[in-house]
Amino acid sequence: MRYGFVIDQRSCIGCHACTVACKEEHEVPLGVFRTWVKYVERGSYPETRRFFSVLRCNHCDNAPCVTICPTVALYRRPDGIVDFDSSRCIGCKSCLQACPYDALYIDPATHTAAKCNYCAHRVEVGLEPACVIVCPEQAIIAGDLDDPGSRIAQIVAREPVQVRKPKLGTEPKVFYVGADAAALAPSLQEPAGGFMWSERSSHDVSLSAMLSEALMRGAGNGSGGNGDHERGGGGAAAMPASPGLARPVYDVPHMAFPWGWKVSAYLWTKSIAAGVLFLAALTKPDYVGFLSGYDPVINGAGAPLITLTFLAATTALLLLDLKRPERFLYILLKPNRRSWLVRGSWILIGYGFLATLWFVAAVTHRDWFQDWLSFPTALFAAGTAGYSAFLFNQAEGRALWRSPLLLPHLLVSMIIAGAAALTIQSALARGGLAEPFITAAFVFGLPLHGFLLIAEFSGKHANRDGALAARLLTHGPWRVAFWGGVVIAGIVLPLVFAPFWEHPAARTLAGLVALAGLWIYEWIWVKAGQAVPLS
Ligand code: SF4
Repeated sequence: MRYGFVIDQRSCIGCHACTVACKEEHEVPLGVFRTWVKYVERGSYPETRRFFSVLRCNHCDNAPCVTICPTVALYRRPDGIVDFDSSRCIGCKSCLQACPYDALYIDPATHTAAKCNYCAHRVEVGLEPACVIVCPEQAIIAGDLDDPGSRIAQIVAREPVQVRKPKLGTEPKVFYVGADAAALAPSLQEPAGGFMWSERSSHDVSLSAMLSEALMRGAGNGSGGNGDHERGGGGAAAMPASPGLARPVYDVPHMAFPWGWKVSAYLWTKSIAAGVLFLAALTKPDYVGFLSGYDPVINGAGAPLITLTFLAATTALLLLDLKRPERFLYILLKPNRRSWLVRGSWILIGYGFLATLWFVAAVTHRDWFQDWLSFPTALFAAGTAGYSAFLFNQAEGRALWRSPLLLPHLLVSMIIAGAAALTIQSALARGGLAEPFITAAFVFGLPLHGFLLIAEFSGKHANRDGALAARLLTHGPWRVAFWGGVVIAGIVLPLVFAPFWEHPAARTLAGLVALAGLWIYEWIWVKAGQAVPLS
């Protein structure tokens, strides 16, 4: 059995009865929606047409929200309905990033994620979903797609149907009949500064202005893919020019940036925590032989203390970003082992344990113990920095974050951050045996970071959404932060200090600006990834 919907756009009159019935049935609070009707217009007067898009959860057979949810609060039932259990939700908002259709919201009353659940409570007693029975045009058809005798299965078999973003592989089970392609794909719609009968929040208006600006700058450079994650479909400059795009004239508000500065800061603190002991572990004398004696910066308590401090900050940021922080332990107690939020937590715990042992070895002067710890510590440090690449890859709604270059970039950021922190520490400690090694890691890491930025932002993107998000960084509203903060201050300036390396002040300054550059990059990269609309 596989429940699904057919939405017949030829019959829909845009009356919003489905939206209202759903709100009533589920007591959905003001400002959030489980199903909504978006109005999109195309053409120019007098040859204009308006289309109504009934949008909601697609009850995907291969649902990315289910995969990423760390606590199994979202799950697929045997009857194909993707349902949720708000009593398990910790409010991490990862499902909002994973869903490519904007179907989820955070309930302002419970602070947990919610969405259309196919009125599962009604279906279980033989009733149809509320939106189906209220629709005056019978434009919404529900039923079992696996039953060849059902009306829905016959329509899907007989009519030319479309689904939203088919190339993502999520296998949506909401099928549209007679829909205009532009009404279903936000990439074929102009960013809208305002609507016909409703105002947009200043936040939404400024986001639209940013997107318009980025599109204008990309205009005339050809057309990219249609936002369906076509591989190789969008170069950095390849995006549709404005003429010919459809105009959204009515929509509901959406949570624009579910992840904010705390997630950017978490990436940054994590890279420092990982980098410091990664480099320290690599220099262990009996392990790879970089050092031939004791170095207080590497072998002392300072390095593990930096790591433990930034790991504590990482955990605190993760906790603060949750809408239900008191349920934090559900990640460990009710885990979804497929979620990289869960796997990442295991890695962070393992790394924290090893860092504590490293600290104990340092204060008790057990050098042999540090040698013994080197390999697992380096491994867990790399895992600590790198697991986010797999987590962000599970955010299937965010094309920019799904770059194959993310893993190498996180590892290089880890080396720079660790080397910068140790550089500052060694400058304050007035040098040490490991100083040449730390300097080499720092000086080689920075150009590598620059090279990865060039590869990321001048190369192909998975689709037009990824290309647009990249353009927002390099040519859009964050271009000053990108070129000034990330490239000049974060990469060029620390390298300019290299000839003056013997001066502790120059080393300290170089370390600080490199860390600032990394922070700015995490901040704008997390923002830009979420700036492209999903619905
Ligand atoms: Fe629904 Fe989105 Fe999850 Fe698909 S990914 S099942 S559309 S919430």
